[in-house]
Amino acid sequence: MFNRDNKKKITFERFLTGEYARDYITQDTPYEEQVRRAAEKIREADCVLLGAGAGMSTAAGAQYGGEYFEKNFAEFQKAYGKGPYMQDMYSAGFYPYPDEESKWGYWSHMALLAGVDLDVTPLHRTLLEAVAGKKLFLLTTNVDHQFEKAGLPAEQIFATQGSYRRIQCRRGCHAVTYDAVELFRQMERERRDARIPTELVPRCPICGGPMTMNLRSDNYFVQDADWYAAEDRFSAFVNECADRKTVLLEVGVGFNTPTIIRFPFEKLCREHRNLSLVRLSRSKAIVPASLGARAVGINADMAQSITDLSVLLREKKPE
Ligand SMILES: [Zn+2]
Repeated sequence: MFNRDNKKKITFERFLTGEYARDYITQDTPYEEQVRRAAEKIREADCVLLGAGAGMSTAAGAQYGGEYFEKNFAEFQKAYGKGPYMQDMYSAGFYPYPDEESKWGYWSHMALLAGVDLDVTPLHRTLLEAVAGKKLFLLTTNVDHQFEKAGLPAEQIFATQGSYRRIQCRRGCHAVTYDAVELFRQMERERRDARIPTELVPRCPICGGPMTMNLRSDNYFVQDADWYAAEDRFSAFVNECADRKTVLLEVGVGFNTPTIIRFPFEKLCREHRNLSLVRLSRSKAIVPASLGARAVGINADMAQSITDLSVLLREKKPE
């Protein structure tokens, strides 16, 4: 049982877990009833810890493959062939680009389209409206800044996996990241046949080596001072809200990196009886049976479920 005296501060490291629930169920309650229960939990809560994964951007309209890729990345398909890589933005990131000019030719274009200039904020805004008035914090694996663009202050966001706006030393030789938006725009203007001019290739100001996107993909990922400051604010929020009526509202988190949001949310909920879990996903909203009525898992098109939730929450509380 939770005991204030030997309470251990919940740090991000302690929050993370690889422990998965062994009692997942798909709740078979009708959709309308599920949305009503979720709205009720949020309405009664003081705090909302929002956890957002890739499914949120997709539900909001972000596109990464198919016709969108064909249309916007034809230059790269022409240079490298379609093969297994040039199919969507994610796969194309793994192409073995022959040199730095080619690597940055692709990544600057991708970072602009998938992050810097991406605008799928209406659904993000609807979600923020649904939780208006609550003490709110966002934990996200998304690197596309869409909640920030939708109006959530940066101080209330912990984006653990990096940013499409920033670059770092490839070897992580120093703990600083650099805003690269203007550089990306210049690369975009001057790119020819999928390559950028050599003079635009960024070099690490400390070791002189190559640089890379500030995206977590290996052990060289740089967590800079802003990252640690966000971690501190996240930790403070969780420790405060663990004692209060709090909803863990999870949107679009699948099983790609479940150890950052999905599993920790379940664990936090198991350990604190005043917490409840609302999980929205197109198809992966299974929830631990042991959480009983404290968990609501809604498998549905999230553009729909978020909109429906928002409508219910803006109505006056039924007497
Ligand atoms: Zn370096």
